[in-house]
Amino acid sequence: MTPDAAYQELLRCYQEEALLESCQALLGWDEVTYMPPGGVAARANQLAYLAGLQHEKATSKGLGDLLALVEKSDLVKDAVSPAAVNVREIRRAYERFVKLPRKLVEEQARIAPLAQQQWATSLQEADFASFAPWLEKTVALRRQEAECLGYKKTPYDALLDYYEPGARTADIARLFDALQAELTPLLSAIAGSRRRRKFAILKRHFPVERQHAFAMEAAVALGFDFERGRLDTSVHAFSTHIGPGDCRIAIRYNPNFFSEAFFALLHEVGHGLYEQGADPEHEGTPLGTPNSLALHESQARLWENLVGRGLSFWKYFYPRARQAFPEALGKVSLGDFYLAVNHVEPSLNRVQADEVTYNLHIWIRFELEKALLSGDLPVADVPAAWNEACKKYLGLVPPNDAEGCLQDGHWSEGLIGYFPTYTLGNLFAAQLFDKARLEIAGLEDGFAQGNFAALFEWLRDKIYRQGSRYFSKDLVLSVTGAAPDHRPLVESLRVKYSEVYGL
Ligand code: ZN
Repeated sequence: MTPDAAYQELLRCYQEEALLESCQALLGWDEVTYMPPGGVAARANQLAYLAGLQHEKATSKGLGDLLALVEKSDLVKDAVSPAAVNVREIRRAYERFVKLPRKLVEEQARIAPLAQQQWATSLQEADFASFAPWLEKTVALRRQEAECLGYKKTPYDALLDYYEPGARTADIARLFDALQAELTPLLSAIAGSRRRRKFAILKRHFPVERQHAFAMEAAVALGFDFERGRLDTSVHAFSTHIGPGDCRIAIRYNPNFFSEAFFALLHEVGHGLYEQGADPEHEGTPLGTPNSLALHESQARLWENLVGRGLSFWKYFYPRARQAFPEALGKVSLGDFYLAVNHVEPSLNRVQADEVTYNLHIWIRFELEKALLSGDLPVADVPAAWNEACKKYLGLVPPNDAEGCLQDGHWSEGLIGYFPTYTLGNLFAAQLFDKARLEIAGLEDGFAQGNFAALFEWLRDKIYRQGSRYFSKDLVLSVTGAAPDHRPLVESLRVKYSEVYGL
């Protein structure tokens, strides 16, 4: 077989696997939107079956031979050529799968929907004890996975690498430490400010159907394509890529809190734009598929916070918001509304946390899941450890587990090693947005006129269309000229909140 033919065969195998993944994604989407609770056992079996099939395809001996053949050829000489990137990514996936027993992969896929369903019930009842056995199972499976994959320093590295290729726990801890050292004094300065914000404006009545219409208008204005995507409601906001031309986002409306749905919408639209902006030329290949969750998150946080909590954004959208919600906002000025959406105060809820305290929530999860995985933290002790960490970093103690350690569904889905990508995403977002401002003349004046296309196009060229060409830190370096760094985020928060709080 020629290297060319071997390469084509590799791509064909990849596409078969991608089809299976796409079916899994669709089942996963249905599970949290429309599936009746009674369907969970059948869903668990479907997902386990598909995961087994995927494992079988991903580990076939033929695949290893094809990879070896292509890797010796000139096709991969240029490390960032489409062929080299595709082969690199197929190799990474192959190396990972061959280390994992099929039974383990199937069991993880089977347990996740069952654990998720129990989590949703336990959350409603604020009862960690009923979720604990499922968390035990999930952690044990992930620990087994880390052992199979192997690691140099900590089992956490093995899991982290899946979400963020090339990332190491120790590097992330260093970045987080540096960030935290800067955020804590900023937060104290804000707490000491005499300016108090009229945050209660956002907790007036906002009828759900009008929130939905307003959300649709904003999604379209930012560039989300409803021919290739849709918006639904779900217990928690999320986005998922089903396949080319099919990107789904979901949010939850709260009639008595404007921010809950709207900023989640901007966040999920950010994820959606990344998927919809991928290079059609590389569709269905590893190169055309994002490989870094931190980069994905950076796009969500960029649109949610750096665009969506900016004054220019609201210069355009606030008159529209007032029209949509005249009872709640009719007498509220743009200035007061802008200050309300930028209210900073430590709270117990990660999803609703402001930009300054958000990363402290991630720090708590990062510390706890590392300890869970290493076995230093027994599952039964999670609520106490969580509450203690909340007190230490946020100065608050959750009144119950629903507002504490049960608030996120990630662990029930088996997503351990995933949380740090949120903070990395925030760092990348600040670096990328600084660069966009430098390179796009009048960027924010454009926002005030409802022009978001210039930013979308810039991001499409620099990020979306790059797919998996680079690992995230190399892409950030090539676009911004700097390695991942906490300082641009700190600086942007300092500038903004000094003005908002008169520091
Ligand atoms: Zn996100």
